Amino acid sequence: MLDVLSQITQKVSMANDLNEALAIIVTKVQKNIEADVCSVYLQNDQNEEEFVLMATIGLNPSCVGKVILSAGSGLVGLVAQKGDPVNIAQAQKHPAFRVFQELQETAYNGFAAIPIINHKKILGVLVVQSQQSKKFSQETIDFLLTITSQLSSSILHAKAIDRLPVNSVSSINSDRPIIGSPVSPGVAIGQASLVISSQHLGLVPNHQNKVVEDEIKLFMSAVDEVKKELKALSEELENDNLLKEDVAIFDAYIMMLDSKSFISKTLNYIRSGNWAPGALRQTIEEYVDLFEAMENRYMQERVKDLCDLGQSVLNKMLGSEEKIDFNEQSILVAEDFSAMTLSKITSKNVKGIISVKGSGTSHIAIIARALGIPTVMGLSDIPLRRLNDCQLIVDGYSGKVFISPSEAIFKEYRQFEKEEIQLSKSLQVLKDKKAETKDGVVIPLYVNLGLEEGISSAKDTGAEGVGLFRTEFPFMISKQFPGEQEQTPIYRSVLKSFAPNPVVLRTLDIGGDKTLPYFHISEENPFLGWRGIRISLDHPEIFMIQLKAMIIASEHSNNLHIMLPMVSTLSEIEEAKLLIIRVYAELVSQNYQVALPKIGVMIEVPSLIFQVNDIVKRVDFLSIGTNDLIQYLLAVDRNNSQVADLYQSLHPAVLKAMNQIIISGRDHGLPVSVCGEMASDPLATILLLGMGVSSLSTNIAALPRVKWVIREFSQKEARHILAHVLQLSDTILIRDYLEDKLEEKGLAGLIRAGK
Ligand code: PEP
Ligand code: MG
Repeated sequence: MLDVLSQITQKVSMANDLNEALAIIVTKVQKNIEADVCSVYLQNDQNEEEFVLMATIGLNPSCVGKVILSAGSGLVGLVAQKGDPVNIAQAQKHPAFRVFQELQETAYNGFAAIPIINHKKILGVLVVQSQQSKKFSQETIDFLLTITSQLSSSILHAKAIDRLPVNSVSSINSDRPIIGSPVSPGVAIGQASLVISSQHLGLVPNHQNKVVEDEIKLFMSAVDEVKKELKALSEELENDNLLKEDVAIFDAYIMMLDSKSFISKTLNYIRSGNWAPGALRQTIEEYVDLFEAMENRYMQERVKDLCDLGQSVLNKMLGSEEKIDFNEQSILVAEDFSAMTLSKITSKNVKGIISVKGSGTSHIAIIARALGIPTVMGLSDIPLRRLNDCQLIVDGYSGKVFISPSEAIFKEYRQFEKEEIQLSKSLQVLKDKKAETKDGVVIPLYVNLGLEEGISSAKDTGAEGVGLFRTEFPFMISKQFPGEQEQTPIYRSVLKSFAPNPVVLRTLDIGGDKTLPYFHISEENPFLGWRGIRISLDHPEIFMIQLKAMIIASEHSNNLHIMLPMVSTLSEIEEAKLLIIRVYAELVSQNYQVALPKIGVMIEVPSLIFQVNDIVKRVDFLSIGTNDLIQYLLAVDRNNSQVADLYQSLHPAVLKAMNQIIISGRDHGLPVSVCGEMASDPLATILLLGMGVSSLSTNIAALPRVKWVIREFSQKEARHILAHVLQLSDTILIRDYLEDKLEEKGLAGLIRAGK
């Protein structure tokens, strides 16, 4: 059954639309469990209380789209309402059974219905029926449960595809947005431009090709390369004395790549206008259909091989680089972005960013936010392949994305866009003003940076220093570990640009979701694994080069602060300090005119919350890394869009922990800053002000917004608000209360589209 499951999942993920996806499900399920009927009912988008027959094998096909059941009515309605499967031998004797004459289902007795549930929401019901009066076996029910749980997200995805106007199923209103995680505030209206990575053949869209001959050449040389690799592999395995049948599979692949029909089909698609990757996908899809229609089980099982082969050719065509084609009206769309791609764009050449993967505090999200481009991530329902060139609206406040909506929605958002421009103009006025509360408390505002390119826009916002320079980003876009000569100028440029104001350089924080192409780490649980300071201390040779580069770079500016990431025990601080002092002493002995840098620790692992009293004796400053602190406190992966709604920066436990850290630090006279993304949230600003934070380090786009909030409140007011919030036990109540407070000050425009 595992084979059947993976075949169905694979085919459904390649379906062009909802009808095709559902047809695959009912056909395959009916055949594999030998039922007489298999049908799918889905919730009506117009009325969530209704379930519509969407696909069937065995019942009257003309009823598709016409038979509608209310939740609670009939057996299907009952399952849809309760979310519990049923399995009965004689459906017609069940009190809830309802007759639909037109369905012609009176001949069927055995009946099982399984709810299709995604993230607690009942999307529909899968029904199987048999003429025989029998209950389906437990094994069959388990299989159906596995199918529905596996396919619910694909069904949701296919439903999203059908929202597009290019599809004929248009009772569904395209004014209904798809909702993801809001990542970077702002509103963008533009044209979708798909970033193609070589990740998934099934996601490759059709594209008008530019020069037919170039596409043909691209395709043919990819085929040749794959053939060569397969030949070499087959020879190697033969020498290893592998079974003849195992080696034969490679010959079969090569034959397939050589086959006239494979080549000519793809070339035909190219000649009729598609680009080579799209043409390849079309050919592979055609073969998959053909193989699956065969009665021969062996051929059916070859579908996976076929897809793998297509994928290899695609990888050769696209290389490891992502392909992007964009202009200043584009909204970049991708399954996932790499740091490399985002390093190529600026707020001047792209209007918005959306992606299937990622959530608010993933590192890719942090880069997007630093660019100040409206961004939504975690859009698992977005119909990627169908999106290219569509008109999109991205609402980076609410996480809504509209695909080719009506003129009324465009009008509303054009107005919001205008208001956004006005808002940024009024924020610009604050550039040279201090972040000073109504009762005279000044909170220095620093900026988070990762690449030198951000320096000038950071200065434009009026940042008074750098509260976090993520040194790993230059490492991530390098081809090998950058040496002292490569690192020093980068650090010098940021230190010099802000001198005499402080610049906090964080030591290398790789591991977790930040990988280096040249330093492979393979772990089951990377966020709890070899990360940050743990790697630096295990590789003192790399750590010391970095420390040396940092200290040399600080010559003459003397504003260097070194910050240690991912510290979980005091001994790590001690060890790192020894190395810092050793490097410093060596440099002094070599006559470098340098000052001993200030040393600080990020509080981002929960164990440190309870050790602030000990840490304060060992360091000069603390900075709370809320991005990780929240993920470790709440046990919610910061990158996982499946659990993004549980990642709550205003969770009562998070706020209590933050308050405790800030109070303990300040009681010992140690400055405590916040450099996680929470510092960039205008709602949280009020609370951090109330807690008595010493400074904040925000992303570039957020800095003026945070300044505006600070200037509208007094610290006394903020303390009252904090005291009230600390009594509340629920994140939603806290959020609503803080939103009201911003609204009262006329600052609602900072947290939603429009005034
Ligand atoms: C944090 O964890 O809050 C932080 C600032 O570090 P990073 O996001 O780079 O892990
Ligand atoms: Mg961190």
